[in-house]
Amino acid sequence: MRYDVAVIGGGPSGAVAAAVLAKAGISTVLIERNLDNVKPCGGAIPLGLIEEFQIPAELIEKKLSRMRARSPKGRIIEMHMPNGYVGMVRREKFDRYLRSEAERAGAVIVEGLVKSISHSGDGFVINTLNDKVAPLRARKIIGADGANSKTADELHFPLNELKVIAMQQRFKYTPAIQKFSDIVEIWFDGEVSPDFYGWIFPKADHLAIGTGTEDKRHNLKALQKRFIEKIGITDAPYLDEAAKIPMKPRKSFTQEKAILVGDAAGLVTPANGEGIFFAMRSGKLGAQAMIEHIKNKTPLQNYEKEFRKLYAPIFFGLEVLQAAYYRNDRLRESFVAICADDDVQQITFDSYLYKKMVPAPWSTQMKIFSKNIYHLIKGC
Ligand SMILES: Cc1cc2nc3c(=O)[nH]c(=O)nc-3n(C[C@H](O)[C@H](O)[C@H](O)COP(=O)(O)OP(=O)(O)OC[C@H]3O[C@@H](n4cnc5c(N)ncnc54)[C@H](O)[C@@H]3O)c2cc1C
Repeated sequence: MRYDVAVIGGGPSGAVAAAVLAKAGISTVLIERNLDNVKPCGGAIPLGLIEEFQIPAELIEKKLSRMRARSPKGRIIEMHMPNGYVGMVRREKFDRYLRSEAERAGAVIVEGLVKSISHSGDGFVINTLNDKVAPLRARKIIGADGANSKTADELHFPLNELKVIAMQQRFKYTPAIQKFSDIVEIWFDGEVSPDFYGWIFPKADHLAIGTGTEDKRHNLKALQKRFIEKIGITDAPYLDEAAKIPMKPRKSFTQEKAILVGDAAGLVTPANGEGIFFAMRSGKLGAQAMIEHIKNKTPLQNYEKEFRKLYAPIFFGLEVLQAAYYRNDRLRESFVAICADDDVQQITFDSYLYKKMVPAPWSTQMKIFSKNIYHLIKGC
């Protein structure tokens, strides 16, 4: 049997793509290396995503509308989201649910690590390491296999070398850390991360605490250890996890017969490392373009054009923010000071929750600009 589309990788991007394709009557196989995979991830997702993809309430372990930003000198700015919340999910459950939706829509799910992809006639042959699975044939491919995408390598997509290495530890609640159970906390502190940030994300029965860095000269485990010490946790974690986060879209993530979505395409925003939203949105947009391509012969490039049109301004804005403020503790101190401004909070939350850049009135922009200059000069 030859499938219309093979989706490689069953994380959020691949599962959404497979569901959209199968719902449209496209014969689809989803190949996931490990159906019990636990993706290392903070699992923070915005309200806009929960609404758009109708994520069931039981998967949202916490709805958090309070957030704290902490500066290198220990200054704390507490922020409130009046019109929304950050949802906390646990990836092992979340990914399983998304894959089950793809299966329900009619996609065939196969377990196997893809080890090679070759061109054959007008399609592809995909070989996995699972002896029980015969080579799979498909006319088109969607590569959704994460930051170290085998699909991208096999099909010679442009390289994507800019990656944060992030680690996270899970701590069961004890009376000492219960105080973190209803607030998102972000640490902008060079001792915790020299070029990214540290996070404390509360889940139903544990805290997920992590940090990351792009700078290979730093020892990630040592940064995480210092973070845990600074928070004051003395108990041991029950789980350690680590993975790469791509921090820049590939130069191109579309070919004539194949596309990349999610982390495989590098679709994670700089500065905050947010990837689940963009994985699911790119999975959906990519699958829609694939359907049009198969049914009406429209070019697959439409997917990349549409994604960039919608989200390039957000990626650009966050890249500028990271370059401007994440370089040293003096700049981080200024950044946290600016977060105290109500207008800054409003713009941040509006764009985070629904990923829409709503330009503030000129007077507000000028006020924020002046405050930026003031804090940058003053260094706090
Ligand atoms: C420590 C950490 C914390 C994070 N926290 C957040 C957060 O709080 N919020 C947020 O929005 N983002 C977060 N991210 C980023 C987020 O996890 C990713 O952007 C998101 O998972 C991307 O989804 P994806 O489906 O594209 O890729 P993935 O989730 O990586 O899924 C890829 C899938 O492909 C499978 N696969 C890989 N290779 C093969 C192969 N050769 N054959 C078959 N299958 C294969 C894998 O098993 C996996 O299931 C975090 C990342 C890390 C590392």
